[in-house]
Amino acid sequence: MEVFIEPIGRLMNEFGKLPGVGRKTAQRYAYRIIGMTEEEARAFADAIIDVKRKVRFCKTCGNFTEFETCEICRTRDPSVICVVKEPKDVIALEKLHEFKGVYHVLHGVISPINGVGPNDIRVRELLARINDKTEEVILATNPDVEGDATAMYIAKLLKPLGVKVTRIAHGVPVGSELEYADEVTLARALYDRKEL
Ligand SMILES: [Zn+2]
Repeated sequence: MEVFIEPIGRLMNEFGKLPGVGRKTAQRYAYRIIGMTEEEARAFADAIIDVKRKVRFCKTCGNFTEFETCEICRTRDPSVICVVKEPKDVIALEKLHEFKGVYHVLHGVISPINGVGPNDIRVRELLARINDKTEEVILATNPDVEGDATAMYIAKLLKPLGVKVTRIAHGVPVGSELEYADEVTLARALYDRKEL
């Protein structure tokens, strides 16, 4: 027998779909919602629907945006492109207030084990962005096996185009993700990038 009445169990199931939310946390969240006024609960639900309706991918860089082209692409120096795996990496790098160029979000890395090939991530879109105004492409995928392999693959494609290709330094601990690196380490990794 289910110990929770149906509407609570159902809400807990929904919370349980979120990363890192187990049964106990889902229960706490559900009880917190029950404690809300109807207005608060509606604002919560509306925010979820709204994010699905309004957030899309920038047609240039692939980052999240409310518009066709994101603010970074519209306002920043397009001659330096920093290539990252996911939108959350853009957030991590933006927190440094160091980088003045634009980004390119791959939405994944090449991973033969998981059946992800070069055509499954936004490599083609990156190549299409390279022109005579492109001065440097910084490969800032995570310093792990897949991130390194993806960086090497992209570097090989970019080199013949005569563009400077750099890789962030391994100041970020090998095998870790950019978003978990502290800001000093990440800034250092960016600053000490090496030409490939
Ligand atoms: Zn953009």
